[in-house]
Amino acid sequence: MEGYSRKKLDLTGQRFGKLTVLKPAENVGNRTAWLCRCDCGRESVVKTYRLRSGHTSSCGCRSPQDNPQLALGLTYIDGTCVEMLRAKTVRRNNTSGIPGVDWLTVKRRWRATICFKGRRYYLGSYEYFGDAVQARKRAEEQLHDNFLRQFAQGTLNV
Ligand SMILES: [Zn+2]
Repeated sequence: MEGYSRKKLDLTGQRFGKLTVLKPAENVGNRTAWLCRCDCGRESVVKTYRLRSGHTSSCGCRSPQDNPQLALGLTYIDGTCVEMLRAKTVRRNNTSGIPGVDWLTVKRRWRATICFKGRRYYLGSYEYFGDAVQARKRAEEQLHDNFLRQFAQGTLNV
């Protein structure tokens, strides 16, 4: 209709994931942008289309769904052995000499597991010892990387 300007989009107060829109920000390029506060307390400027598309739903901090355990796609088994992860000690009943790698007599395969934050995760069983060690090493690196990154971002829940 002539004379009616397009209603200006106002996202103020709306939530997108962990972000709450505080107020319009300076446009980024020719895109509308908003000053948002993340649940973690940080503020960031996000473009409208990124908010509405769900592209950006946090300031960049890791969401709980992205936690290291799940990011690894691991299966929870049992046990509490954070201390083992920390100390990298080999349990007395460990059959391989490598932490997190055990020989399964019945299956005749090597089982790789890892403990993190009090939980034990199953990494698969392998015909070859080297493969089990690799799986364990990969998981270790991923866990530690995630751990350190979260620590650096101050989003680690300890
Ligand atoms: Zn955040």
